[in-house]
Amino acid sequence: MSENSQDCLPTTHTISVEKIATAKLPTQIGQFKIAGYRSLTSNEEFVVLYKGEMQKNFPTLVRIHSQCLTGDVFGSIKCDCGLQLRKAMELIEEAGRGAIVYQQQEGRGIGIINKIRAYALQDEGADTVEANEELGFVVDAREYQQCAEILFDLGLCRVRVMSNNPDKIKALEKAGLKVVERVPIEVDSQEPAAHYLRTKKKKLGHLFEFND
Ligand SMILES: [Zn+2]
Repeated sequence: MSENSQDCLPTTHTISVEKIATAKLPTQIGQFKIAGYRSLTSNEEFVVLYKGEMQKNFPTLVRIHSQCLTGDVFGSIKCDCGLQLRKAMELIEEAGRGAIVYQQQEGRGIGIINKIRAYALQDEGADTVEANEELGFVVDAREYQQCAEILFDLGLCRVRVMSNNPDKIKALEKAGLKVVERVPIEVDSQEPAAHYLRTKKKKLGHLFEFND
């Protein structure tokens, strides 16, 4: 593989996000920095939690984390998002560098209210995919292009992606980042998440090991 930094340019040739502010963020897991980005093409906002030096040719841990209010904030065990976020922060802390782009697209882009509507259908027996379809939403409405641009803007090129979602990995590659490794995030999930995780694996093509 070439070490030439010329080989790592955004395929769109422009960056359509703007960094607005950066600050220190001490956390329970360690010292991080937090940056706020705005899209130049929509009203979407992004948050990046990162640590250490961002170097183009140093294979750096990254994650695109899609906001999950129920899992990230309330500790829901219907899914494993909160545990995955924590694990990603721990891996970055251990490595001494890395970045998490926190994408505020709740419920795969359908929004928190619709996600609660979908949960209500799940209470009646639907799985996560069936519930979204019944509500008339596409299964996954997320776009990752600008998340990749943020990683470029931070100064990264060669990345080790902490994800079980092949769509995110493909999106980063399509945007021009060099994905040198997929770092699986395996977390212990509790029983109510089992049905959700089984669906994610079977219907959405996620890659993690799951014994069902
Ligand atoms: Zn979740």
